[in-house]
Amino acid sequence: MESILLLAHTEADGTLAKPALEALTAALELGGELTVGLVGGAVEPAANLAAAAGARRILAVTGEPFTQPRYSTDAAAAEAIARAAGAAIVLAPATARWARALPGVAYRLGGRIDTHATGLAERDGAPAVNRWFYRQRMEAVLTRTARPWLVLLDAGCFAPWSEATPQATPARAAGSAQVEFVAVEAPQSRTTVTGIQAPKADEQTIRPDAKLLFVAGAGWTKKQPDGAVHVEEAQLLILGALRGAQASLGGSKSLVDLSGEGQAVLPFMTHLNQVGQTGSTPRHQKGLSTCCHGEEPHVVGWRFVTERRAVNLDPNCGWSRGKADVVYVADAFAVVRELNRLLG
Ligand SMILES: Cc1cc2nc3c(=O)[nH]c(=O)nc-3n(C[C@H](O)[C@H](O)[C@H](O)COP(=O)(O)OP(=O)(O)OC[C@H]3O[C@@H](n4cnc5c(N)ncnc54)[C@H](O)[C@@H]3O)c2cc1C
Repeated sequence: MESILLLAHTEADGTLAKPALEALTAALELGGELTVGLVGGAVEPAANLAAAAGARRILAVTGEPFTQPRYSTDAAAAEAIARAAGAAIVLAPATARWARALPGVAYRLGGRIDTHATGLAERDGAPAVNRWFYRQRMEAVLTRTARPWLVLLDAGCFAPWSEATPQATPARAAGSAQVEFVAVEAPQSRTTVTGIQAPKADEQTIRPDAKLLFVAGAGWTKKQPDGAVHVEEAQLLILGALRGAQASLGGSKSLVDLSGEGQAVLPFMTHLNQVGQTGSTPRHQKGLSTCCHGEEPHVVGWRFVTERRAVNLDPNCGWSRGKADVVYVADAFAVVRELNRLLG
């Protein structure tokens, strides 16, 4: 296998987040000589972990300008590390930071980049990369002759590396990492980070690590059998289920479009929640669809959700046509009310 550089940016405490640990597993499974390149304010814990995983070289760009996600500084750091490492294959987790910076770095290096890789395997001493096309309908296996070849790995496709990983063969004792610091002059930047605004953890409805994807469809906002709409109750029931099950929230296109048009519907539902052909393709193990018809453009987004259940008043809805394991022909208001009672 050709030489590999794994690029990772560190967290504020110098550790690696889960997507980077997954990419580390991918790099180790590929089997080439591994260099780990780290970017961030503190890198020591990440460097020790890379050493324990068997990295031959550890390169790092540190310093205040490289602590913040910003195209100019991230690209400069990644370019410098890639030139110092001279590796043929450059792997990186598809974090917002690397997804933004690395295509430009590939151009600067005269290399090529592929994004959204979901699998990697060795083929004749070089990597073969799996990637989905046409909104996850076709899977291709790609090889390339151009080098360096940069590959951004989608999250959730590899097990995160840990020292307990069975194939982990510590090359050196943890805590003894030899880090080669690469000097990079921070480029002139017009962007200054003044702080971070983030919703409170329990206001965050998109939770990629949750076991359950709870999907709400437009039915929640429609007239119910009593002739009235019950949007406020729908809101309480959905939020209650999310809180109780620590689930991630998905929505159908019809529902998120309603929210986007400013109607008094579900204020926490945005286009980021949309699952389907023109939305996202989440990777939760289990999915529960409520008040959603299960039409094909929606259900293609469930490709990776392997255990599926749906609640719909209509026994002829799409879910009952082989798209879910279990369909409850029932009123979702009553089902989720009872579910929340049990979860409470
Ligand atoms: C090019 C293209 C791309 C598209 N991309 C997407 C996409 O990415 N994602 C997506 O979701 N859609 C997409 N669509 C739209 C898709 O075809 C459907 O129109 C949409 O998914 C319907 O949303 P829905 O099931 O929530 O709403 P509806 O079709 O209105 O269905 C509501 C459902 O709620 C049920 N219901 C009502 N009240 C209750 C109750 N009390 N209990 C239980 N069930 C109840 C009804 O029986 C009904 O089945 C796309 C369409 C096109 C043409």
